[in-house]
Amino acid sequence: MNPPRFDNSYARLPQRFYTKLQPKPVASPSVIAVNDALAAQMGLDADWLRSDDGVAMLAGNAMPHGADPLAQVYAGHQFGGWSPQLGDGRANVIGEVLGADGGRWDIQLKGSGPTPYSRRGDGRAGLGPVLREYIVSEAMHALGVPTTRALAAVQTGERVQRETGVPGAILTRAARSHIRVGTFQFFASRDDQEAVSLLLDHAIERHYPEVALGDALGFLTAVIAAQAKLVAKWMGLGFIHGVMNTDNTHVGGLTIDYGPCAFMDAYHPAKVFSSIDQQGRYAYQGQPEVLVWNLAQLATSLLPLIDPDRDKAVTAARTALESFGDYYTAAWKQVFFAKIGFATGGDAQVVLIQDLLTRMSDNGADFTRVFRAMARGQGARDEFVDPTSFDHWETRWGGGDTELMMASNPAIIPRNHRVEEAIQAGLQGDFAPFNRLNAALALPFKDVAEHADLEAAPSNQQLIHQTFCGT
Ligand code: AMP
Ligand code: MG
Repeated sequence: MNPPRFDNSYARLPQRFYTKLQPKPVASPSVIAVNDALAAQMGLDADWLRSDDGVAMLAGNAMPHGADPLAQVYAGHQFGGWSPQLGDGRANVIGEVLGADGGRWDIQLKGSGPTPYSRRGDGRAGLGPVLREYIVSEAMHALGVPTTRALAAVQTGERVQRETGVPGAILTRAARSHIRVGTFQFFASRDDQEAVSLLLDHAIERHYPEVALGDALGFLTAVIAAQAKLVAKWMGLGFIHGVMNTDNTHVGGLTIDYGPCAFMDAYHPAKVFSSIDQQGRYAYQGQPEVLVWNLAQLATSLLPLIDPDRDKAVTAARTALESFGDYYTAAWKQVFFAKIGFATGGDAQVVLIQDLLTRMSDNGADFTRVFRAMARGQGARDEFVDPTSFDHWETRWGGGDTELMMASNPAIIPRNHRVEEAIQAGLQGDFAPFNRLNAALALPFKDVAEHADLEAAPSNQQLIHQTFCGT
């Protein structure tokens, strides 16, 4: 059995990028899950992760040789309001490893104890949010969406105080980096150009090797393209992130932060789940626009590196931001054309899709079930209050490529009521529903008879209207 071999590039950046500190040990850790497939991809030994030394690492109780734990500092706009200093308030990046594919991975413990960035928080995580992030982030990966990953989850044997006392847990998150728009904002807002420059090169090396070092405009454009594709994928799955603050916008184009996120059941473009999103700032249909706002903050942070002449820099940054629309529209078309079984299309097909979405929203039709039923060639009309509304649309559509639709429209998504059910059972010490849900979500495009119940839309009693920024 082999412990990880660390190579910690972020820890080699100057001290003002982080605070080095050890995770705070916990009472009596026990493993909930270790992700074998991801461990293999990261070049980690899953048997070692399950060993006493491995569990000690996953719990933050003892670091293996070569780990160099740190909490990263960042800033961010939260619901549009500026927070000059945030940071890993309940997380440590314990180090980086080089994966089997040569790619670099951060290993981060989330819930590992207080840091200088904890503000009023306790630095811990409750079992519920840990299970939620594990389920949903791994589901996103299986659905083909770039995302941070879940390598493991452990219980701490301690309780944390939330509205009530709940079991404590730690998620081991893995990602190509944890660099956010807010990380750039932190240094830019302090006029620390040297740090912005170092961060730029670090981010280029990790995410965009095709971009030349120091090429701020090239980097900005690459982030814009990656994020446009990412959000188009969210839209195609009915995914609502819920807290698209700039500190939760990853410069590598990964989905990060699974706090109040949710998948829509019935389609409605204005759908919001997060209890704290009173204004609907992060509603389903608003996500692309909010993203442009967030990317504009990245652009602002990079201005001095784009061009020493401020006017020229602004013009170049604006042009780059304007390219978002083209990237997004192209990505949206690719996603939604595939959903109706078209490899390509034009304006007429866009209108056709928009017509379907309007009919779905008018009829309270389940987003995931309608598209999967279309792929299967039966049952879509039954999802509509007025089935003839679908019939009329279907005549205009005329059918599409079945194989493409089956590969583009999942049968299974992490429905809110199923995630909640897995969490509630986990809180009672029963992880069978959690394990079953994860197993089903690993193959979302396959029809599996035993998982038919997980495809069902929630009954009125099961329906979840609100999600919470659990920590
Ligand atoms: P989030 O809502 O997850 O994006 O977190 C926003 C900020 O609050 C981040 O800086 C987190 O590190 C911090 N935070 C969230 N929960 C906790 C907690 N339990 N203890 C300390 N800091 C926290
Ligand atoms: Mg966050």
